[in-house]
Amino acid sequence: MTLVSGMLYLGDNGRCFCGTLRCAGMSAHFTGRDISGQEVLALTPEVLAADPAAESVRCEGCGKGS
Ligand SMILES: [Zn+2]
Repeated sequence: MTLVSGMLYLGDNGRCFCGTLRCAGMSAHFTGRDISGQEVLALTPEVLAADPAAESVRCEGCGKGS
């Protein structure tokens, strides 16, 4: 699975990043798995709605919010 640049994801032990190559990194962007091999979690609207704390998450690379 290739990540979508307009979405936010969680991976790398809780790091939040968007789907761009620059922020997600090669591994996550192209394979959907972070460097440790864990599948990244897509912060879909459904996931965000179910977790109020997720509303404030931002990409740690470029600052993009959800
Ligand atoms: Zn970003």
